[in-house]
Amino acid sequence: MSVMTQYDLHTHSTASDGSLSPTDLVTRAKAQGVTHLALTDHDGTEGLEEAAVAAERLGISLIPGVEVSVSWHGATVHIVGLQLDQQNEALQNGLRSLRDYRRTRARKIAERLDKAGIPGALEGAGKYASETMLGRVHFARFLVEKGHASDMKEVFNRFLVKNKPGYVSGHWATLADAVGWIREASGQAVIAHPARYKMTNSKRRRLLAEFKSLGGEAIEVSSGNQHPEEVRVMAKLAVEFDLLASCGSDFHSPDNNWIELGKMTTMPPFVTPIWTQWQ
Ligand code: AMP
Ligand code: MN
Ligand code: MN
Ligand code: MN
Repeated sequence: MSVMTQYDLHTHSTASDGSLSPTDLVTRAKAQGVTHLALTDHDGTEGLEEAAVAAERLGISLIPGVEVSVSWHGATVHIVGLQLDQQNEALQNGLRSLRDYRRTRARKIAERLDKAGIPGALEGAGKYASETMLGRVHFARFLVEKGHASDMKEVFNRFLVKNKPGYVSGHWATLADAVGWIREASGQAVIAHPARYKMTNSKRRRLLAEFKSLGGEAIEVSSGNQHPEEVRVMAKLAVEFDLLASCGSDFHSPDNNWIELGKMTTMPPFVTPIWTQWQ
């Protein structure tokens, strides 16, 4: 008898900028046929406890994870950690420093929006998350709610990206720190959505090489609703840099019709999936 498995190793809940509670996320994953789910909220592991309870009840395997914000040579890069010991002190101290920075950045974003004639953004976005978890998605929701844009795509393009009124350049963890915290917590470091970074191919290759030398283990070969051709390119990079392959939807909300839990382009057979090392 063959046992069907479906891995989704990159998802978000209300513990960061997702719109489903950890319980609702696990419930939806189960309904979508996911058998192995990683919850990877931005810069925090607060949702894992609740998710674990729901996963146990529904008979789905929960992989403890996180998505760490990193600044690398002027770019923001995301490093997913999987199979973490979430109690680890080095990891938690590191994540706390990033959440402290989130609070500082949120105040700056609100100040900038205020100068652009949009008052009350800190309180408005604050309805959706605590100050230390505030991200651009929460500001986006506030701006849409106030009628400054009609949807997520428009609100990001008009307010929350480089050279726009609500943009503040990030000062996140170093790549070495992010990989180090994950490793200290006995986890595996994974470069999230490597195709999404606006960088030249040579810079992307430098990122992979440095990540590998720091002890990074995998890249997301398949992410969200990525084009099959792009998945193939990422798969070849995984092989070339001797990295394991991960896949995850990066699901945030049922409102986004393009992304669903457990739905992504299948990885080519020549990669080594990260889960081959798991029992
Ligand atoms: P932050 O870490 O607070 O800077 O926010 C980054 C998050 O914003 C990502 O994880 C996505 O959830 C979301 N995001 C970034 N760019 C866009 C975009 N162009 N459209 C919609 N959401 C975006
Ligand atoms: Mn996000
Ligand atoms: Mn990300
Ligand atoms: Mn993500």
